[in-house]
Amino acid sequence: STESVPESKAMSHVFHRSAKQTPPVATRGEGGYIFDKAGKPYLDGSGGAAVSCLGHSDPDVIAAIKAQADAIPFAHTGFFTSEPAERLADRLIAHAPEGLDKVYFVSGGSEAVEAALKMARQYFVEIGEESRGRFIARRQSYHGNTLGALGTGGNAWRRAQFQPLMVETSHIAPCYAYRGQEDGEDLVAYGQRVADELEAELLRVGPETVIGFIAEPVVGATMGAVPAVPGYFKRIREICDRYGILMILDEVMCGMGRTGTLFACEQDGVSPDIVTIAKGLGAGYQPIGATLCTARIFDAFQNGSGFFQHGHTYIGHPMATAAADVVVTKLTDGGMAARAADMGEKLGAALFEAFGQHPHIGDIRGRGMFRGLEIVADRETKAPFDPALGINKKVKAAAFEAGLICYPMGGTIDGVQGDHVLLAPPFILTDDQLGELVDKLGQAFGAVL
Ligand code: PMP
Repeated sequence: STESVPESKAMSHVFHRSAKQTPPVATRGEGGYIFDKAGKPYLDGSGGAAVSCLGHSDPDVIAAIKAQADAIPFAHTGFFTSEPAERLADRLIAHAPEGLDKVYFVSGGSEAVEAALKMARQYFVEIGEESRGRFIARRQSYHGNTLGALGTGGNAWRRAQFQPLMVETSHIAPCYAYRGQEDGEDLVAYGQRVADELEAELLRVGPETVIGFIAEPVVGATMGAVPAVPGYFKRIREICDRYGILMILDEVMCGMGRTGTLFACEQDGVSPDIVTIAKGLGAGYQPIGATLCTARIFDAFQNGSGFFQHGHTYIGHPMATAAADVVVTKLTDGGMAARAADMGEKLGAALFEAFGQHPHIGDIRGRGMFRGLEIVADRETKAPFDPALGINKKVKAAAFEAGLICYPMGGTIDGVQGDHVLLAPPFILTDDQLGELVDKLGQAFGAVL
């Protein structure tokens, strides 16, 4: 009964992320807002970690879910395909970067990454290159929390208690100009220099032992919306091709229009061999993810064993794919990805205007409706705050109090322990709501910094 639903802060029997505190109960969503049980509105400045691209009450997505629930909510893919899954795959491929033309559906981001890693490994088995068994990723990357995804991710503190991890991975530097670019170094030269770390690492471990390189085009949760500098991913693509390894891009967070184009890598001018998407694909209405690959990879399976040695009960779920089909239609034909580009420009400009001179904001970055602010103790030296101060947690709490959901993170960013805030609001926000977001973030900074 509703009586048993706990009030904010009372302990419930759900094992929440924090075992010490039960969060407020979300009871309603409308556009860019979530309302708790007491009726308090929260502007969703992070889209629940870059998920809710269309806001919380999209009538068309909801109608599609209802219609599919009435027609056939579930049919196991061991026996059937479904109309929405076929439609969604066609739509994704029509808009995907060149060469990506098969889609494997899963139920979320970590699952999409697991599928990508196993698909890449099995591809080499299918073509008789079984010596390839390891991956190269980047420090500070986050690719998910399942064991394989965690194994490739470069987030030291998440990995620490689960060592040894089962996927052998080595990590190179992220492309992170704010701290990585040397004094007087040209931005493009910097990008080439860090990309070349991939080649050095390949030569160190032996290129014939490597399956692929995995990276987020715009690094999300762990670094706060850090895009690569121009030319970086083109150089990465060249190196992958030179050594015959697969380029896997993880667009779970930055894909699906978030950066202003349906796929973030479009802006880097590259096409990967495998790309993962999730989050914005279901826009929060249904759990769904997908792994797209090239015909070369698919053909190796088709001409080889004929089976991908993988699978989950809920792959290609009819209700999830029905919802996502409407989401992708809105992002593409409906112009919502283009809106993310336009509103994202405004958001970026408003953030520079409000915080560009702030003594504790060292860097403002990102693309489209995907923006990060790095908090520092000193703008000149870029020195971070003492992590013991828990600045990012305090910003989160102050923003929440003010009715703004934002996604602050701490932790090490390429050797430096720091704090940042990630913003990833719904693309449907109005100008006034963008203003409210920036005002409330300013209030939170005012209370903490
Ligand atoms: N990859 C990236 C880049 C992500 O940001 C995330 C989630 N934050 C994941 C993978 C894992 O996705 P999920 O939480 O849906 O399993």
